[in-house]
Amino acid sequence: MSDLEPLNSINSGIIAEDKIRALFPILHQEVNGKPLVYFDNAATTQKPIQVIDALKKYYEVDNSNIHRGAHTLASRATDYFEQTRNLVKQFINAPSTEQVIFTKGTTDSINLVASTFGRKFIAEGDEIIISTLEHHSNIVPWQMLCEEKGAILKIIPIHDNGELDLEAYKNLLSNKTKLVAVVHASNALGTINPVKEMIEQAHEFGAKFLLDGAQSTAHLDVDVQDLDCDFLAFSAHKVYGPTGVGILYGKWELLESMPPYQGGGEMIKEVTFAKTTYNDIPYKFEAGTPNIADVIAFGEAIRFVNQLGKAAIRKHENQLLEHARERCATIKGFIPIGTARDKVSVLSFGINNIHPFDVGMMLDASGIAVRTGHHCTQPLMERFKIEGTVRASFAVYNTIEEVDRLVESLTKISKRKN
Ligand code: PMP
Repeated sequence: MSDLEPLNSINSGIIAEDKIRALFPILHQEVNGKPLVYFDNAATTQKPIQVIDALKKYYEVDNSNIHRGAHTLASRATDYFEQTRNLVKQFINAPSTEQVIFTKGTTDSINLVASTFGRKFIAEGDEIIISTLEHHSNIVPWQMLCEEKGAILKIIPIHDNGELDLEAYKNLLSNKTKLVAVVHASNALGTINPVKEMIEQAHEFGAKFLLDGAQSTAHLDVDVQDLDCDFLAFSAHKVYGPTGVGILYGKWELLESMPPYQGGGEMIKEVTFAKTTYNDIPYKFEAGTPNIADVIAFGEAIRFVNQLGKAAIRKHENQLLEHARERCATIKGFIPIGTARDKVSVLSFGINNIHPFDVGMMLDASGIAVRTGHHCTQPLMERFKIEGTVRASFAVYNTIEEVDRLVESLTKISKRKN
């Protein structure tokens, strides 16, 4: 932790790039003979050294199964694991630690809600609303549920700039709506949705609201009490933490009323062959040995984000996005995709006459890592009548110089065909 002290000086809102970059070992390497520029942060962020060290320390010093053993290592591992739960509680301002459930990721969290809330509360003829912006993991579980239950999936359309059509949303809501599941920030376009207002509108019809926070939690303040969402799902690996850890937050009475997700150890109070009683929340939803090491290391990622502060992170990333937008607009053949007014740091685009995959390969040859393709949002690509985009997504350790390198490479790539 002491390594991070100097970063406190960024309370002025200015990110000390060098100090931050020094914490990310992976950034200091060459790819294809060029210094790595990592612009694939919406897929997964890199991990600061304190997260990596926490993983190593756990296996070297603390490794033990949690919640069960009477011995010192078991209680130490349990304490650290539960400390992360408390950090997550504060991170999203949940009313209690019991409402923070550890899962494998956003996908797993959404599937948990579909399988338990959905199984119990969705019936034939009920309606579930999602949006055109959704990631496949916030589409397919609802399609599967609707198929099983005879429920109906309704889709909020978008405008050409990638913003949701909020009038259409209002018209879709009715007494038949049982659940609205919408992304906070789009992974493919960066659009930030006005979810507070949307949640309020859903509640007027008695519908529950699941917020997909996979792309917002690293950039925006996400306060579940202020937003009043019924569920929040997100992944640790997109918030500078390890892969294999997700969070599901839920309102107390909902979590209490939902049946368990999976059966096994930890989620029970008492098992007899005649009958099993279930554990209290959150353990009711955490069957089996969880991903202990990665949960503990995620605690360090949250401390890292807290130390910087979301406001400073957002300001820095916005500067990168604005700079990229302005400079890219001058590239011949550059086609921005998703020009919403309010965006997280995602720049999605095409280059005239060049396939996105080829752009990605050419950028990689210059050491620049971007994502290309449909970004697990095929219906959204269909809406724009495109196969895919090139996506550069920025994190707190990225720099203006790196954006300039992207622009220079894109200028050269575009010149070949434009
Ligand atoms: N929703 C959104 C908006 C995402 O960006 C992602 C990951 N790309 C997911 C859900 C799924 O997250 P995970 O793969 O970590 O479960």
